[in-house]
Amino acid sequence: MKSRSNYSTRVELNESQKKLEKDWGFETRSILVGQAPDPATGATIFPIYQTSTYTQAGIDDNKGYCYSRTGNPTRTAVADVLTSLENGTFAAIYPSGIAAVHSVMQMFKPGDHVVSSSDLYGGAHRLFNEIMTPLGLSFDFVDARDLSNIENAVKDSTRLVWLESPTNPLMRLCDIEAIVALVKELNKSRNEENKILIGFDNTFASPYLQRPLDWGVDIVIHSGTKYLGGHSDVLIGAIVVKDEKLATDIAYRQNATGNLAGPFDCWILMKGIKTLAIRMRQHHESCIVIAKWLEKHPKVKAIHCPVLESHPQHALYKKQMDYYNGMLSFEFDGDFETVKKLVSATQIFQLAESLGGVESLIGHPASMTHAAVPRERRLELGINDNLVRISVGIETVDDLKKDLEQAFASVS
Ligand SMILES: *Cc1c(COP(=O)(O)O)cnc(C)c1O
Repeated sequence: MKSRSNYSTRVELNESQKKLEKDWGFETRSILVGQAPDPATGATIFPIYQTSTYTQAGIDDNKGYCYSRTGNPTRTAVADVLTSLENGTFAAIYPSGIAAVHSVMQMFKPGDHVVSSSDLYGGAHRLFNEIMTPLGLSFDFVDARDLSNIENAVKDSTRLVWLESPTNPLMRLCDIEAIVALVKELNKSRNEENKILIGFDNTFASPYLQRPLDWGVDIVIHSGTKYLGGHSDVLIGAIVVKDEKLATDIAYRQNATGNLAGPFDCWILMKGIKTLAIRMRQHHESCIVIAKWLEKHPKVKAIHCPVLESHPQHALYKKQMDYYNGMLSFEFDGDFETVKKLVSATQIFQLAESLGGVESLIGHPASMTHAAVPRERRLELGINDNLVRISVGIETVDDLKKDLEQAFASVS
């Protein structure tokens, strides 16, 4: 296997530039890392290198790029900024979040076992059950809030623990530090080939809120479609790792399988990431306002939002997240039909799938994101018919509150 530098080349920084970047804060890195002015023209904003190939001066004489499946400067630029924000050493950019999850799963072979969090993105559930299981991987789904559930599900053949936190749509958290400690302990009696890796879907948090690699997680994935991109205008994904061997393997596989995002989509993601911190702070603030209003509302029977002090996992939120996102779900005092009317009655909150954009969205998991899950199973998971999920955007928060007020009134 060749070194990964053959697959993703970054403009080499000199020592003083490297030191500078190391000292920069999150916002500065979001805007500048990987995005030095274009050396050819001085363009301040990193160009979209819409090219498949690169003219070489001679055999073995190129500028670090030969073919865009192997490496493209715009893809490298966004990979570099994401690497920096997640405190990794390498990132690979995929055409969607689920493509990134799929790439992680392809690192394993028939017979390998995965322990996965049960409260899981619906598309990951489908990928694991319908695509990876027939190929010979096996999965156990457990409530990852309880460490012993993970421990009890691990077998000799387990190679991966797969986590999400906060989860969708119930915003449950898992204790990253405790799970890493458990897996480290289990790995003590395993040799290099049977070691258990930890994969973590950090989509709901983004690196501004939570950096799983810092806690010792091996592989982070993102749907950049959500908070990272932040404007609901691109479908894109990423894998970020710290370990050099994993980095080499992932880069090799990406080139070998051609599972990658095009330069324009990479550029859109890069533009979104520049404002990640300021957007996330506003999502956090507005979410608290909305959550507190909902918590006191007589028509709200339950609310799932760990940033609230009343939430049973609030202490864990404080421990592993720097801020909260804009996501919450609540149970409305009404039947299936009433709740369906409620989610259609808002005017600023738009009825739509997805999340994490600047605009506020509202949805009904039982008939939207989780419609494919049989009702019985849905209820077991805690996804009741009267559950409403909202993604709080960054519009004027008072307008958001008034919008919910009028929607509540219209069905009460
Ligand atoms: C949306 C989402 C994905 C899948 O991402 P796509 O970009 O839609 O493929 C994976 N995980 C989580 C938590 C998500 O919200």
